[in-house]
Amino acid sequence: MSEFVQALRALVGEAGLLCGGDLSAYELDWRRRFPGRALAVASPATTHEVAAVVKLCVAHGVAMVPQGGNTGLVGGSTPDATGAQLVLSLRRMNQVRGVDAANLTLTVEAGCVLQAVQAVAAESGLLFPLSLAAQGSCTIGGNLASNAGGTQVLRYGNARELCLGLEVVTASGEIWNGLSGLRKDNTGYDLRNLFIGSEGTLGVITAATLKLYAQPQAQMTALAACASLEAALELLRLAQQRAQASLTGFEVMNAFSLALLSKHFPQMQQPLGGSAWTVLLELSDAESELHAKALFEGLLEAALEAGVISDAAVAASHAQAQAMWHLRESIPLAQAQEGLNVKHDIALPVSAIPNFAAATDLALEAAFPGVRLVNFGHLGDGNLHYNVQAPEGVEPQAFLSRHEAAINAIVYDAVAVHGGSFSAEHGIGQLKRAELAARKDPVALQMMHSIKKALDPQGLMNPGRLL
Ligand code: FAD
Repeated sequence: MSEFVQALRALVGEAGLLCGGDLSAYELDWRRRFPGRALAVASPATTHEVAAVVKLCVAHGVAMVPQGGNTGLVGGSTPDATGAQLVLSLRRMNQVRGVDAANLTLTVEAGCVLQAVQAVAAESGLLFPLSLAAQGSCTIGGNLASNAGGTQVLRYGNARELCLGLEVVTASGEIWNGLSGLRKDNTGYDLRNLFIGSEGTLGVITAATLKLYAQPQAQMTALAACASLEAALELLRLAQQRAQASLTGFEVMNAFSLALLSKHFPQMQQPLGGSAWTVLLELSDAESELHAKALFEGLLEAALEAGVISDAAVAASHAQAQAMWHLRESIPLAQAQEGLNVKHDIALPVSAIPNFAAATDLALEAAFPGVRLVNFGHLGDGNLHYNVQAPEGVEPQAFLSRHEAAINAIVYDAVAVHGGSFSAEHGIGQLKRAELAARKDPVALQMMHSIKKALDPQGLMNPGRLL
């Protein structure tokens, strides 16, 4: 065994070290696109152990790949193929450090699973609103490192907006205690926001102080049928006008997304049939069930009368509401069953979405006749998952290998023309590194390189990711 691994074992103990054997849970990403090989997996149990491991890596020139739940979708959390990178797993750092209900904050360690964080907030009668389909396995450290979005961004913002303070082990192994629960603190550069979204390339997030909110008194969920994206946007405008901050979810699914669900998960009930677009609306009311119901029904009736929607189904129970969300969240799984596809997690000004989709659908169909578009996502905050599936009968892997670059060029050029971003909530990782180099403003890119050099001069924090 190498001197490095022996020293590592002395720092984290048997329980904190995996070396040899089957490490595939740490070496293979969720989408199975970036298999790697780890030198070892270190799972420190405390911030001081993380700092000691980082110092050891610096002394030996060993690159580190911070990892939380390994649910990231851009290949940022798995090692490369050299067998020389250490996976630094935060999963054992899963303590709740404290709830300050009067300050509406919660301080947790980075390895806490998102669902557990939501549960801790709920035990205090409060809400931690970050919510995404991977919440049973992703960690708060990973959520912050990738600035995750999810289904509640429209009302509460993404992970960045939900974090007040961080504790970080820097690339040289120092501990920065920035665990502030302050909502105002103008004392120079915003270091917290530098580490949020840095995808493990600047340091290791070991703990965070998070914002909490009051639990809503009532929640209403519905599906609504729209004939076009323009109509879906009109419904969004109506909903924002009537419900204002109570509108907490506004998701959209195209007909082909739902057709894939029917094909692969026929047991899932789809209450509405046949429209070009289906919107999933969620309203969270601070007043009462009665108030929520009146507001929601008024909104849907007005939309029906104005011809904005042709039909709607309101969930009559929590179980029905969950089933509606389950439909939306199962689309990526149905897509996976259909075969490999080219995924795009894009952001656009909401107003530009209908023109973007019309132009890009046409351009893709012209270039690849028969191509199938799985278009769904968080319409309320301008984030589409605009995914491209091979034509019926065409072998998906071959289609992807041959055409992925050309498809990306069509989609990302259109995104740029419409004032959007080629990465909305999943980040850059390995998957979009070339896009970042090619498409990011050159001055911004230069500043990013300068920051990386200043904070990680040896380039040992997650090298080859993001930059
Ligand atoms: P990992 O995958 O382990 O890591 C992600 C990145 O963060 C890597 O670059 C890693 O090096 C870095 N990192 C991890 N922990 C730390 C740390 N403590 N310090 C420094 N760097 C660290 N994302 C959305 O935004 N919205 C969605 O709606 C959404 N839905 C999803 C649904 C499914 C089914 C899946 C599988 C993923 C989904 N994602 C979504 C992707 C999302 O980014 C991740 O699920 C989550 O935020 C990553 O958390 P994780 O703990 O798994 O991080």
